[in-house]
Amino acid sequence: MSLPQFEVQQPQTLGEALKILSEVKGAEPIAGGTNLMVDMRAGTHQPRVVVDVAALRDLHGIEVTDTEVIIGAATTIAEMLESPILAKHATVLVKACSSFANALIRNRATVGGNLVTAAPCSDTAPALLTLDAEVKLASVRGMRRVPLEKFLVNAFSTIRRSDELLVSVRFRIPSATATGAFRKMGLRKVSCMAKVDVAVLLDGDTTGRCTSARIALAAASPVAVRARAAEAALVGKALTPEAIAAAAALAAKAAAPRAGSEYKLRVVEALVRRLLAEAALALTRGGSNA
Ligand SMILES: Cc1cc2nc3c(=O)[nH]c(=O)nc-3n(C[C@H](O)[C@H](O)[C@H](O)COP(=O)(O)OP(=O)(O)OC[C@H]3O[C@@H](n4cnc5c(N)ncnc54)[C@H](O)[C@@H]3O)c2cc1C
Repeated sequence: MSLPQFEVQQPQTLGEALKILSEVKGAEPIAGGTNLMVDMRAGTHQPRVVVDVAALRDLHGIEVTDTEVIIGAATTIAEMLESPILAKHATVLVKACSSFANALIRNRATVGGNLVTAAPCSDTAPALLTLDAEVKLASVRGMRRVPLEKFLVNAFSTIRRSDELLVSVRFRIPSATATGAFRKMGLRKVSCMAKVDVAVLLDGDTTGRCTSARIALAAASPVAVRARAAEAALVGKALTPEAIAAAAALAAKAAAPRAGSEYKLRVVEALVRRLLAEAALALTRGGSNA
């Protein structure tokens, strides 16, 4: 299919981009274009005007403060993979990025585009959910910060208003002992969409007791979700095989696959059990940072 006619606007500043989004009816942002161009070619999405936000300085960079890591929305998956800040503070996210598509797509695809699309199989969403990330949205009316868990509403649906840009994603620096793990199950080992994604972030004390547990799933429900009951079942307990198996069974209850994909419940349970066991082992060795 050929592309329909559309106009491209290339604002130089965030302010200019927000003005266009507020004034031009039917204008839509584009970053890497790896989703939007595919949808436009397929005819499922037909914005009259696209606003190129890929080069906006305010949407770039990965920064660390005393307490937080902040990732600009137009940061590509490839840039996240190369970031020493994320390698130090958020290996769960780096692991998610390393299983993302292929090198060509990773060079263009952005974290903002991935979260705004809110596909059930988003790879960055479950990793960022375990980091308790927040997104920052901007419009001509001002800024607002929203927990990622509230931002993602349903399959391909978020609370973003049509005149808002996602500016950045941020999360508190995990404790130095917190240990993250991520696994994607797809039909191939590389360049495939997830059939199931699992991300975990565990922390514990020197006695082997779990002090914090975060577990998130993608592609096993309409949108990425936290498995809160499974998390609660671990906190305060020794990370024994029995406690891990019980939490994995609870995690499967947080999944809601489509009819015909019930096998995903068993995949979630098995992957959660495996990743929790790996993270628990890493914790006994002093943790490896998120
Ligand atoms: C071959 C192929 C393989 C893929 N593999 C994977 C994979 O393994 N894992 C995975 O998760 N995804 C995958 N995807 C999907 C896609 O690459 C990602 O979702 C990507 O992160 C989208 O980012 P983008 O910058 O290209 O978004 P775009 O296509 O530019 O935009 C997507 C949507 O987000 C909006 N948007 C973009 N940036 C902003 C912003 N800053 N503020 C507000 N709205 C914004 C756009 O208006 C549009 O609605 C794949 C796609 C292809 C074509």
